[in-house]
Amino acid sequence: MTRLLCQVCGGRADHNDDGVLWLLGEDPRDPASWPEDLLTSHPPLCLPCAAKSVRLCPHLSQRYVALRVREFYLAGVWGTLHRPGFPLPVVADAAGVAFDDGRPRWLRAHSLITRLETFTPVDLATETH
Ligand SMILES: [Zn+2]
Repeated sequence: MTRLLCQVCGGRADHNDDGVLWLLGEDPRDPASWPEDLLTSHPPLCLPCAAKSVRLCPHLSQRYVALRVREFYLAGVWGTLHRPGFPLPVVADAAGVAFDDGRPRWLRAHSLITRLETFTPVDLATETH
């Protein structure tokens, strides 16, 4: 995530003057329905992989929004949260935990969470031509 590599091919994620390309499974016609904080555990994409993803991914083929993101930062980790136990910690839940939460040491992390702070929705079809 920190190297901004495409989540599909591992190449460089697409970046232009408007920002880095991300896809989210939100309704592009109803931004009011989007979460107040846009958090994602998915890395950005390159343009060819974004075009393929919206055609082939069962989730994104239902609905997606393409964003050019100018400001973003790592906000936490997603993983399996544990609680103290004897003789070993006990699995409590799957959870996303902010870095400043204090619980990351009880988390078996599997992906970073990025907060998309400043972004512009874009038309992916226009971007790919
Ligand atoms: Zn790619």
